[in-house]
Amino acid sequence: MIQTAQDMKTYKKQLQESLGNSFLRTSLDNFGSSYKASRAKAFENLDFEDMRNGIAESKDAALPRLEELLEQFTGNAEKAGVKVHFAKDAEEANTIISDIAKKGGVKNIVKAKSMTAEETFLNAHLEKDGFKVTETDLGEWIIQLRNEGPSHMVMPAIHLSRGEVAELFTTVTGKKHEPDDINGMVKTARRELRQAFLEADMGISGANFAIAESGTIGIVTNEGNGRLTTTLPRIHVALAGIDKLVPDIKTAFRILKVLPRNATGQAITSYVTWITGAVECGASPTGTKERHIVFLDNGRLTLAQDPVLCESLRCIRCGACANVCPIYRLVGGHKHGHVYIGAIGLILTCFYHGVENDRAIIRNCLNCQACKEVCPSGIDLPHLIKKVYRRVLDADGSKPVKNMLLSTMLRNRKLFHFFLRRAYLAQLPLSGGGPFIRHLPLLLGKEHGFRSLPAIAKTPFRDQWNTLQKQVSSPKYRIAFFGGCVLDFVYPEQGKAFLSLVQEQGVQVEFPMKQTCCGLPAMMSAEEETAKEVAIQNLEAMDAGKYDYIVTLCASCGSHLKENYPKMFNGEPELESKVREFASKVIDFSSFMVNVLEISAENLGSGKKKVAYHAPCHLCRGLKVTEEPRKLLTDAGLEYAPAEDEDACCGFGGSYSVDFPEISSEILKRKLDNVEKTGAEVLVTDCPGCVMQLRGGMDRRERCIEVRHIAEVL
Ligand code: SF4
Ligand code: SF4
Repeated sequence: MIQTAQDMKTYKKQLQESLGNSFLRTSLDNFGSSYKASRAKAFENLDFEDMRNGIAESKDAALPRLEELLEQFTGNAEKAGVKVHFAKDAEEANTIISDIAKKGGVKNIVKAKSMTAEETFLNAHLEKDGFKVTETDLGEWIIQLRNEGPSHMVMPAIHLSRGEVAELFTTVTGKKHEPDDINGMVKTARRELRQAFLEADMGISGANFAIAESGTIGIVTNEGNGRLTTTLPRIHVALAGIDKLVPDIKTAFRILKVLPRNATGQAITSYVTWITGAVECGASPTGTKERHIVFLDNGRLTLAQDPVLCESLRCIRCGACANVCPIYRLVGGHKHGHVYIGAIGLILTCFYHGVENDRAIIRNCLNCQACKEVCPSGIDLPHLIKKVYRRVLDADGSKPVKNMLLSTMLRNRKLFHFFLRRAYLAQLPLSGGGPFIRHLPLLLGKEHGFRSLPAIAKTPFRDQWNTLQKQVSSPKYRIAFFGGCVLDFVYPEQGKAFLSLVQEQGVQVEFPMKQTCCGLPAMMSAEEETAKEVAIQNLEAMDAGKYDYIVTLCASCGSHLKENYPKMFNGEPELESKVREFASKVIDFSSFMVNVLEISAENLGSGKKKVAYHAPCHLCRGLKVTEEPRKLLTDAGLEYAPAEDEDACCGFGGSYSVDFPEISSEILKRKLDNVEKTGAEVLVTDCPGCVMQLRGGMDRRERCIEVRHIAEVL
């Protein structure tokens, strides 16, 4: 039974349980690493971007035509002897299938893997109606025997150890099974399931594709059970979401070329089955197979009309967004999804299984962009997660206090900055005037003690600007410097390092005083209106037309200004062109140094130190900048020692690390362990937010490696 937490208190308890499961973590982690390697191999010499665009385009073209495609599919399938049904919701789909079984005098049913059947809780419905249902995919059978839902969309039993499976098989068969005897367990499954196939009157499958031009369905599997389910019993029912409709076989092949590669790193699955029409069947009294296809709406047609969230219907259920998610890899699918798992699960749960089942899990996203990077359908998953979070808040009609405070502060720049200046004084008893707050106030709770907090700077960067600014005669470039809150109020020294590097390169730097927070924290908290208001303040303050570039040292700000600002004002003609101009001028520090200033080795310091590098999510995945910072490090004569999983998130995620310290701390620990293994003396990164998380974590370690922004190191 699926028990998704419906409030944060229960959810936190569940998360703690999962974090305490060392098998789960090791197994998901091992899987995550091997997946990365096999996926990379599977896409070798292929243009993933091109393939992804192809899928996105085909899906987007099909979505507004779903009803038309359904009509075309129905005409062609019925001509070939298949009965096509349409169910508006889960209950109707289950009733249709149960009625088919009753009418056909069915007793025993075998099922192949189907996420749509999981969505409708079909087994429970059929069992209530007196049918014996046996799942025949090995993983699905195991979780059926345990009476639980899948923990992954492709590998439903990935959360279980062989010991747990051996124990389960011992209980079910009454015969002792040893954890090391994998062959013995496979034999047991084969024996039990073959018997079920032979006794079955009806087989139920899902469908990966429903091809309108021919009325064909396509099923992609790795076990022979899919074929046995669809061929052996006299009745076959396929249950498919209406979003599985594609116009033609060409589109299906386009998806098929990517699906197994992205799901499991296979060029092709062991079986790809195409079924058209009702064929000959020895088990049927009529000599012909009775075949039904049930299309499920369950909110899909409404979702298809949403201008932003319709993107979620591009999903081809490859499961990759879970495989790469640092949170999924720690807590598993039962805690990072409801029926659908991982990033797409956080989104779809709201529409298919109600706000109540999404209320807690929707908040559990770091915005690290790892899911977006691998999604073969080009779905902007982190963006949609925030959109859905907003819906959940609206539906609940109550907001966390944090949201209200954040909105009040961010909307009023003067109030916000006044508060930060006052915070410097208020923190003095805790920081003692030093760089860290090591003893946190008790009200924060001990789970926040995994990192020291930085002290607010005595004099923010903006208050030092008068003494730092310099007039450059005949400047090569005129730039606006976007500081971001962390640099401005916590690490002004990073801004000073930047100035010392670029002012001597003939760059006229200006720091528009009316700039404020980029608005990402508001966006992360689903406070869209606040995020937009803050964006407008920055657009006015920075006045992009006056500058060649808008440079920032903060990867998170940079990616938000460049990627999210245009999205926020999409369809607002009075601002669209202004935002586009602004976004086109935003550039991160490393790209500015390498690609614009073409800085050479002699212009950089030469520290000779051994350094490790942390690639901020918003730089390497958000802005897609990967080579430039590494080039700067090596050009500066530093000994660059690559760490394992350099591009994995550090666990900061802005307010995420405050909301989910138990997860943030684990992700940080892994990151710092990998850095320590390199033997580096300095850990370099290019985001003040990451500096805050990494430096705070290092400060709690025995071997405290210095953490610096790349501008300081150079
Ligand atoms: S953005 Fe990162 S944390 Fe959020 S769902 Fe995607 S992979 Fe997971
Ligand atoms: S959202 Fe993208 S990555 Fe996730 S399962 Fe769907 S297609 Fe795969």
